[in-house]
Amino acid sequence: MTGTTDSCCEGTPAPASPRYWTVDEHLADVLSAVGPLPAIELQLLDAQGCRLAEDVTAGVDLPPFDNSSMDGYAVRTADTARATEEYPSVLAVVGDIAAGAGELPKVGPGQAARIMTGAPLPPGAEAVAPVEWTDGGTGTGRAADSMGAASGTGTGDEVRVLRPVSEGAHVRRRGSDITKGDEVLEAGTVLGPTQLGLLAAIGRGTVRVRPRPRVVVLSTGSELVRPGDPIGPGQISDSNSFTLTAAARDAGAIAYRVGGVPDDAATLRAVLEDQLGRADLIVTSGGVSVGAYDVVKEVFESYGGVDFRRLRMQPGKPQGFGRLGGADGVPLLALPGNPVSAYISFELFVRPVIRTMLGAPDVHRPVVRATCTAALRSPAGRRQFLRGWYDADGTVAPVGGEGSHLVGALARANCLITVPEETTSLDAGTVLDVVLLTD
Ligand code: AMP
Ligand code: MG
Repeated sequence: MTGTTDSCCEGTPAPASPRYWTVDEHLADVLSAVGPLPAIELQLLDAQGCRLAEDVTAGVDLPPFDNSSMDGYAVRTADTARATEEYPSVLAVVGDIAAGAGELPKVGPGQAARIMTGAPLPPGAEAVAPVEWTDGGTGTGRAADSMGAASGTGTGDEVRVLRPVSEGAHVRRRGSDITKGDEVLEAGTVLGPTQLGLLAAIGRGTVRVRPRPRVVVLSTGSELVRPGDPIGPGQISDSNSFTLTAAARDAGAIAYRVGGVPDDAATLRAVLEDQLGRADLIVTSGGVSVGAYDVVKEVFESYGGVDFRRLRMQPGKPQGFGRLGGADGVPLLALPGNPVSAYISFELFVRPVIRTMLGAPDVHRPVVRATCTAALRSPAGRRQFLRGWYDADGTVAPVGGEGSHLVGALARANCLITVPEETTSLDAGTVLDVVLLTD
């Protein structure tokens, strides 16, 4: 096959021919209609996975005060200068300091205070002798046994320090981690567990981020039945709303699965009206081709602001997109109903929209070059996306056939093999672009 004459899309179309858009033209139009969502202030855990919309500056020092990194004894270095195992320095224990202690004993010459990890270094002390460098002390027992005790010890408690302790030993200095005024996180950073922990550590209860877009997913078709419900003649389980909701979550959205809506204009309109208030984006499947029951088109066209077009693409030729009701309306992508078409359309067009709303710099799936292990045929004038298995050795093999109803093969694929518009057949060993479906 040469592919030069057998397509409606080749060459200059006759005036009456319907216009076709390329995948790239459509993607550019879709992306030009959306931008990052306005930033909002969220509780820390609600901001997980979101991108910072502010540079974060520390309002405090970390650690906030000099504190001990060991359980042991807070001492003055001069008192331990000549300590040895044979001739220990014998110090009077003037108090116990637990983590969280507010009132601190003063450590004078010849004195020590029992101290716990994280507890403030008391005035007068210059270093901490870990309990292992001492005889453990007398009185209320070894420091490690008296967790929580913040009171003073009985009179006459002593500790023997067995070696010299240098200035600052086992002391975590105020501000040694972060100094007040430091920029600790840059705008654009994705907030994972450790970034959220840092925000908490500097005392931030809330943070300004780009929120996750709220995506409403609904599938249309009078044949659709909720999975698990009884199925009558001619009916099928609604799978698209699950695929698309999961894919939206995977892209970083908060996704609401509304499920199957029958091919009935009044019902679809009622469902839409109900959902509009909570949607940053609406994604539908089905009803966008030219069938008699394609009420989706009819309903969206009645709102205005939504375009329906044909793409030079297989699968996924019919697509609808726009803002429902016009420029200020909720963005909407109306995808074809065939499950493979719906999913591929999501990956190519909806995912980049969600990523754009999130403010992500990388809105597209990665594309790599790979050697196709099989010979392929492809329609002229269409960019074909075949389900494939990409191997780390740089080869890719088609999985299943071309049919856009083949959900079994789709679930076994990890990539989309891209066959260019002008290619109608290719030999095994051809190098092609492959869209990886994993991050
Ligand atoms: P449509 O785009 O509405 O003409 O649907 C095209 C094909 O996809 C038909 O065979 C539908 O039954 C099927 N289909 C549409 N929606 C879904 C869905 N949510 N889950 C599974 N199959 C669907
Ligand atoms: Mg339908």
